[in-house]
Amino acid sequence: MSTIDVKQLTKKFHGQTVLHGIDLQVNAGEVVAIIGPSGSGKTTLLRSINLLEEPDGGTIKVGNIEIDGNKPISKQKNKVRELRQQVGFVFQNFNLFPHRSVLENIIEGPVIVKGEPKAKAIATARQLLEKVGLSGKENAYPRRLSGGQQQRVAIARALAMSPEVILFDEPTSALDPELVGEVLNTIRALALEHRTMVIVTHEMSFARDVADRAIFMDQGKIVEQGPAKELFSNPQQARTKQFLEKFL
Ligand code: ADP
Repeated sequence: MSTIDVKQLTKKFHGQTVLHGIDLQVNAGEVVAIIGPSGSGKTTLLRSINLLEEPDGGTIKVGNIEIDGNKPISKQKNKVRELRQQVGFVFQNFNLFPHRSVLENIIEGPVIVKGEPKAKAIATARQLLEKVGLSGKENAYPRRLSGGQQQRVAIARALAMSPEVILFDEPTSALDPELVGEVLNTIRALALEHRTMVIVTHEMSFARDVADRAIFMDQGKIVEQGPAKELFSNPQQARTKQFLEKFL
């Protein structure tokens, strides 16, 4: 059974269709990279999986929770809440709470949303900080951290909810070039643990090396997909070839 099963997803902004009936299945333990030109709908697809964008049609299923894109999500609030608990989301701009410490940022979800005892949430948060290489930063505030450190806190925060799947929306594109590597290494380590992840990225060599499968999108459609190494070394569609040539 797929962990993510999106069927015929459509999304419009101001009457303009930006996702044209997308089908996307992601299996448990699979790492999927979504690549494609700017404006092709990658971020909208990712945000729709977490219902940060409201679909205009189709279905979105994560685990056994299914959202009907033909009904308003305001009428499916319980399911949306359940689905979001299963889905971690890492934003381009980190989205940490600026007035809370690193530790407070990480325990907020487990304590408030899941009702975990605070001591347990703190113990888990410390382990996660160690995992992302930030032991000792528990009491720091986000503004005192580099972008790379903030993004690693955001990854720890996503992991703290023990989600079924983690979605990464261009996780390194807001970073200074010298900080990209530390965040990619953190994501790479998660991939080696076979966590289910979908990553929208412009880091082509990372996508080729780390993803099991790569998906090329253009103009709101999936143009081509396949095992990442094959898609990068031997793209079948002219549009994919044209896009990848720019990165050679
Ligand atoms: P990508 O992630 O591939 O760069 P996006 O998903 O961000 O593409 O955007 C797809 C299309 O949807 C673009 O034409 C973009 O301008 C449009 N779009 C995205 N978000 C919004 C929004 N909130 N309001 C209006 N148009 C949007």
